[in-house]
Amino acid sequence: MWEKSALNPAIIGGGYAGMAAAVELAAQGIPVTVFESARQLGGRARGVLHNDTQLDNGQHLLLGCYRETLRLIEQVGGDIEQDFLRLPLQLDLHGHFSLKAPRLPAPLHLLVALLKAHGLTWNERMKAVRFMLTLRRMNFRLSSDMTVTDLLAVHKQDADLTFKLWEPLCIAALNTPVHKASAQVLLNVLRDALNRTRADSDMLLPRIDFTALFPQRAAAFIEQNGGKVYLSCGVDAIVPKDEGIELVSANETHAFSHVICAAPATVAAKLLRPVAGLTDVVAQIEALDHQPIYTVYLQYPAHVSLPHPMLGLHRRISQWLFDKGQIADQKGLLAAVISAEGIHQELSQEQLAQKVIAELSEEFGITEQPEWFRVIAEKRATFCCAPDLQRPAQQTALSNILLAGDYTAGDYPATLEGAVLSGIRCARLITGQRRDPAIPVI
Ligand SMILES: Cc1cc2nc3c(=O)[nH]c(=O)nc-3n(C[C@H](O)[C@H](O)[C@H](O)COP(=O)(O)OP(=O)(O)OC[C@H]3O[C@@H](n4cnc5c(N)ncnc54)[C@H](O)[C@@H]3O)c2cc1C
Repeated sequence: MWEKSALNPAIIGGGYAGMAAAVELAAQGIPVTVFESARQLGGRARGVLHNDTQLDNGQHLLLGCYRETLRLIEQVGGDIEQDFLRLPLQLDLHGHFSLKAPRLPAPLHLLVALLKAHGLTWNERMKAVRFMLTLRRMNFRLSSDMTVTDLLAVHKQDADLTFKLWEPLCIAALNTPVHKASAQVLLNVLRDALNRTRADSDMLLPRIDFTALFPQRAAAFIEQNGGKVYLSCGVDAIVPKDEGIELVSANETHAFSHVICAAPATVAAKLLRPVAGLTDVVAQIEALDHQPIYTVYLQYPAHVSLPHPMLGLHRRISQWLFDKGQIADQKGLLAAVISAEGIHQELSQEQLAQKVIAELSEEFGITEQPEWFRVIAEKRATFCCAPDLQRPAQQTALSNILLAGDYTAGDYPATLEGAVLSGIRCARLITGQRRDPAIPVI
């Protein structure tokens, strides 16, 4: 066990996982060094500038139950009510289905929302309510994991109910198609979002970009607390020593007490492969499959807007639409999000954008052409969240090499909260801090 005064951990990767670990350590007065290979922080959740317009690497949304992410944003100087547009739970598949949670305590708000949902028969609404009540009785815990398709079949959720409610929810939460997705992980999200307090199910849409929202503020916080954050400074090798660890970056060697590898899964596998004793964890990482997310940004004339800040489309290529004018005062800027694998992957970027433009015209009568569009295709956006997936633990076989990242072990699918929780766990493994019951050590 290291004395606290001798701790000088390094973090590889300045995404949400790495920066969460760094903030957690810096808050305890531990000097941390963050190495980020890109020119900016944020990783998959980073700001992207296009034609002087601030975009993100993909439209993201947070849920009210992402408590640790929201706590850390505040810790580094953010203001949740100013930084986000907060919407009460609502799902709207334009013209086909809508559900809005009333101001009632959880889970009553959801049950009433389901009973009053538009676009489902009375029988379907009752089936959805019974399903939620059964999940509650089961404490949202399955005795053995299965696919979401199988879970829905066991609980007699009809095709229409699945298409309008459960499938859009599952794809949005797990970025994995229902026939491949882990029912247990979906239930973990439903348990935390729908079952505790009403605010947990709120949807939070950021008004600022994802680099500014947390990682940039986190970097300032880390430096105020004696740490360093290096950009454009990728780590090329991890070399364990008798005492501590050496990192090689730009042909220089740096010595640390610990390293938290918070790079994406493929990079983590590459860095860990040469390190003796880590064969099993490398094999676990390499076994993960991935799923894409495409975001199509379209800049229309300023007067163009949608009926709501966020809404879905039923049986269209565009799954969710975001009106950035209503969210972040970026008038005329719309974003269409297409999660998980699908036929859209066969289209060129130009064809995909034209498809989205045609759908916007057919659904909302938008006849103007956008001034520009930008397609951001993240082909390996998240791991494929399959049943019984063996995800690598944060603690590796070597006590001073730890793993953070949305793909590491945890209750959550690949999300900002999953990434942040993994970073916090790594920090606490280093400091030997007592367990926080809200953040189980995996
Ligand atoms: C398009 C899209 C939409 C999404 N939507 C949502 C959403 O709505 N809600 C939600 O909660 N989640 C969403 N996610 C998932 C979320 O973005 C990720 O779970 C989260 O950002 C992962 O963070 P991370 O820190 O684990 O990894 P990353 O963000 O991948 O961070 C890893 C960092 O390591 C750096 N790095 C790589 N190699 C090296 C090296 N050799 N040395 C140093 N640094 C290195 C990278 O540049 C990167 O900054 C979305 C993801 C995508 C791609």
